[in-house]
Amino acid sequence: MVQRARRAVVFTGAGISTECGIPDFRSPGGFWTRYKPIEFSAFLASPDTRLEAWRRFLMIRETIARAEPGESHKAVASLVARGHVSHVITQNIDGLHLTSGVPAEQIIEIHGNGTYAKCLSCGLRHELSWVAEDIAAKARAPHCVSCGGIVKSATISFGQAMPEQDMADARAATLNADLFIAIGSSLQVFPAAGFPVLAKQNRTPLVILNREETGLDGLADLVIHADSAPVLRAVMAQIDSG
Ligand code: NAD
Repeated sequence: MVQRARRAVVFTGAGISTECGIPDFRSPGGFWTRYKPIEFSAFLASPDTRLEAWRRFLMIRETIARAEPGESHKAVASLVARGHVSHVITQNIDGLHLTSGVPAEQIIEIHGNGTYAKCLSCGLRHELSWVAEDIAAKARAPHCVSCGGIVKSATISFGQAMPEQDMADARAATLNADLFIAIGSSLQVFPAAGFPVLAKQNRTPLVILNREETGLDGLADLVIHADSAPVLRAVMAQIDSG
């Protein structure tokens, strides 16, 4: 299926980055087994909650900053370079598709990017190193250096509006796809998980590659319950052998 594809979309979740040492959310030992997610409204409502959210985020950020793209990211980058995959739609905020060599214009980060922060009022970018220093110095959540607004990681929290342009781009790529492959996602987080559904509604073959069952297995044309790296290695070997 991959060999024939010319405009496949690869849709990734936290599972593609576990081989890089970044825990996913729902697996045992994952982040959610330890911390309840902070909703966007709670983040806005209370300075103490913002400080707690930032402390957690800066902890995750250290793990992300150390991570390198894994074999699965590299296989996906290679499929993009060979013209089989048109776009990577990712729920991940770790930036590893970019560092694995997928051109920025072919990556759609529907849950934002965790490598920097933004002012929620004026949009000014703030570096995470500045945020960490500001919190260490003032023991309170950071305020925008320009307008005094609330500064938040450039990621999308539960209850926060999805980025309009990215959602439109992801929809267009999905409707144009000749194959849709979901890798390492439990496919439980909506609206993100709506993209494989949309692909199927558009009669595009759907492949799900995930270590365990997902919410959409019943919809897929092919389901592979396995770690992504060995499967993608086999796919690449098949493609290399022509
Ligand atoms: P999820 O945690 O709900 O699901 C991950 C799935 O990947 C699980 O079903 C797990 O069985 C599977 N998995 C784990 N390792 C795997 C491997 N090596 N090969 C194949 N499958 C594997 O993650 P989600 O669906 O992405 O949704 C959670 C939300 O949390 C998303 O919004 C995501 O952006 C965010 N998140 C991002 C990161 C990151 O940027 N790396 C990490 C954790 C959570």
